[in-house]
Amino acid sequence: MDSIAKMRDDNFHAKTYARFPLVIKSGKGSLVYDENGKEYIDLSSGIAVNTFGVADDEWVKAVTKQLGQLQHMSNLFYTEPVAALAEKLCKKVNMQRAFFCNSGAEANECAIKAARKYSQDKYSKERYKIITLVNSFHGRTMATLTATGQDVFHKDFTPMLDGFYYAEAGNLEQVENFIKNGDTAAIMFEIVQGEGGVMPLNKDFVAALDNIAKQNDILLICDEVQCGNGRCGTYFAYEQYGIKPDIVTTAKGLGGGLPIGATLFGEKTKDVLVPSSHGSTFGGNPVCAAAALNVVDRIDENLLNEVIKKGNYIKETLCGKEGIKSVSGLGLMLGLETEKPAAEIVQKCRENGVIVITAKTKVRLLPPLNIPWELLQKAVDVIIDACK
Ligand SMILES: *Cc1c(COP(=O)(O)O)cnc(C)c1O
Repeated sequence: MDSIAKMRDDNFHAKTYARFPLVIKSGKGSLVYDENGKEYIDLSSGIAVNTFGVADDEWVKAVTKQLGQLQHMSNLFYTEPVAALAEKLCKKVNMQRAFFCNSGAEANECAIKAARKYSQDKYSKERYKIITLVNSFHGRTMATLTATGQDVFHKDFTPMLDGFYYAEAGNLEQVENFIKNGDTAAIMFEIVQGEGGVMPLNKDFVAALDNIAKQNDILLICDEVQCGNGRCGTYFAYEQYGIKPDIVTTAKGLGGGLPIGATLFGEKTKDVLVPSSHGSTFGGNPVCAAAALNVVDRIDENLLNEVIKKGNYIKETLCGKEGIKSVSGLGLMLGLETEKPAAEIVQKCRENGVIVITAKTKVRLLPPLNIPWELLQKAVDVIIDACK
């Protein structure tokens, strides 16, 4: 493809991304268009970011209204969107305080700092370890990269930071052994491991983590960056596991397409961060906060029920079809284990007007939460065909 945008990007952008050979120019709802005008049903949502698809009318209205009013002021001042968003998010999920930043990695950095400070304030400087899970993904800054339990991400960037233990998902004995060392401050995990291959954690394992954490005053941190904000059929995925984390991090779908992350604090942790202990210049940007307010407002019971129904429809329709070995995930965060290589399926779907992505060896589906039924059905048919 001899696109000017592609050539420029290939020549001048850092080679950090293995991009699809496609320049996406515009979109509306669950449809996007490339520079040649070809239409695609987008089942990737910018990796679970475009909660209501592209250029959703209500969302655009909320964003542009704020944009014309105040785009930034600095955290030396109060602004209305941030105050409203903090209250709305906290009340929605029964947490006590929110800190806003710009990405998932930053939300996790904040959680890691807060966990260390909680433990130092209350116990000692030696109690600072954070247990994360093998196959997890928590971001690409040095601390969140270290937290990420996948060697492939570590290998060229050693030494990793001090302060992390890695336990296999489901292996409680390993977790217990780390805790016996007496230096654990927190356990951090994704309820559904996204980049790790759309793998929901086992419910008994999560309940056991909750239990052992409570017994030892170890904080539970849920990374809901990808699986949160309605993606799995509840506002946060952990709600389906009957636990109440001490810290929740989120980003991706929160702003519906504008960069905003949040770290939410529960009863135990709400007063850990104090003036000058943490901050972010762009964090809580009023335009991003206005975008997030619109998103959070609209993730209601109706929408969540639709997410569950649509997720079930995809699972039931794809399970057992030729070339599909399994379907994992929750709600509209799904992974297909296919007989053909995932990359091949992704390409075939794209040729046939459906955008899907991969997660490790799986085909990953993350449609907009409000994708219309007709488009979803059309896209599922294309996937079935591609997997044959
Ligand atoms: C994407 C992701 C992150 C990192 O988010 P960025 O916004 O890319 O920094 C962290 N945790 C999980 C679970 C993610 O899926």
